[in-house]
Amino acid sequence: MNLSMNTPTQTDTARIVRCPTCEGPSRYAADNPWRPFCSERCKNMDLGAWASENYRVAAAPPLEDEETEPAPRPAARPGSSFSTH
Ligand SMILES: [Zn+2]
Repeated sequence: MNLSMNTPTQTDTARIVRCPTCEGPSRYAADNPWRPFCSERCKNMDLGAWASENYRVAAAPPLEDEETEPAPRPAARPGSSFSTH
């Protein structure tokens, strides 16, 4: 038997990466549909975090208030960092 001819090629391209959610070891391979996350739960958690963050940004009222009010009222803008002309 000559096993030396049967050298293992790089068929297994799986590698371990860090899960962005739980920072645990995650299998980055084709058989891991949640990659780069380690599990479906971690992937959902990450998407949830993104959604909540986007909601926070989109719900920021100051810019909308300025658009609805064409009359410039610099004095009525609390906490504006660029109030100084
Ligand atoms: Zn994870």
